[in-house]
Amino acid sequence: MTDPAMGADDALLIVDVQNDFCAGGALAVPDGDAVVPLANALARRFPIVVLTQDWHTPGHASFASTHGRSPFETIDLAYGCQVLWPDHCVMGTDGAAFHPALDVPNAQLIVRKGFHPSIDSYSAFVEADHATPTGLAGYLRERGVTRLFVAGLATDFCVAWTALDAAKAGFEVTIIEDACRAIDLEGSLEAAWKNLAAAGVKRAQTAAIGGA
Ligand SMILES: [Zn+2]
Repeated sequence: MTDPAMGADDALLIVDVQNDFCAGGALAVPDGDAVVPLANALARRFPIVVLTQDWHTPGHASFASTHGRSPFETIDLAYGCQVLWPDHCVMGTDGAAFHPALDVPNAQLIVRKGFHPSIDSYSAFVEADHATPTGLAGYLRERGVTRLFVAGLATDFCVAWTALDAAKAGFEVTIIEDACRAIDLEGSLEAAWKNLAAAGVKRAQTAAIGGA
C-alpha cells in the first residue's frame, strides 16, 4: 500500500541492486546486501518505483581487462577519466541479475545503463559522456514526478551520479542514506556527499520516510 504521506508525484529509484554488487559478486560493495530489505520496504510506500540495472556489453570500456590494466586504475577515455573496474554486470549474466531477495513487484520501469560498449554510465539519467540521455528524465516528467528518492548501490558512484543528474534535471532529490552502501575508493564517499550537498540533494533515513 502506498503511504499516504507520499504523494502521486513522489518516485523511488532503486539503483543497481544486482548480484555483482552484492556479497560474492564481481564488484561487491561492502555490506551491499544490507540495502535489500530496506529497498523492499521502501518500495511499498511509493506510488512510482523505478529500478536501474547496470548492463554492460562483454569487453566494455569500463572493464580493466579490456585495456590490459588492473581494476581500480584510471584511464583517459574519449569522454574523460574513467575508473577501471573488474568485469561486472555483463548483460544477460547472473551477475547482472537483480539480487534474488529484491522483492519489488510494483516496480514499473527498469532502466538499463552502460550498454554502449564505449561509454560507461554511473548515472541513470545521462551516460558518462555527459551527453547521452537514458530517457529517464522524460519518463518521470511525463508521469508528473517532482520528488525523487534514491536508494541502492553504490552511494559514491551510481547513486551519487544519478542524484546529481536528477537535481540538474529539476527534480527535488533525497538520498535515503541507510538504504545505500558505498565503495569508498580513495575518498570518493566524502567527495560525493560534498558534491551532493552543493547540488541541494537532501539526505534522509528510511525510518523518517516511513519505510521500515
Ligand atoms: Zn558498471
